[in-house]
Amino acid sequence: MKKEMSAECAAVLGGISAYLDGELEATACDAIEQHCQSCPSCASVIAGLRDTIGLCRGAAINELPDGVKEKAQASIAALLKNKAR
Ligand SMILES: [Zn+2]
Repeated sequence: MKKEMSAECAAVLGGISAYLDGELEATACDAIEQHCQSCPSCASVIAGLRDTIGLCRGAAINELPDGVKEKAQASIAALLKNKAR
């Protein structure tokens, strides 16, 4: 399955990766939410992550088990890698 991904998408995914590291600020969540409203492919990625990690729901990121966090980061990294090619 191959998807076109814009630079904006890469920035959004990078932001999520930062979120997983506990670095994303609330304003970046707004940007992600806005991007998702106009980008179905990111919206579907993020919808899955929401269920997994509670993205942008105000959940404390520190409560995530390591395995969950790593898995989410790995899938984002894979998406970004595809974009780079
Ligand atoms: Zn996008």
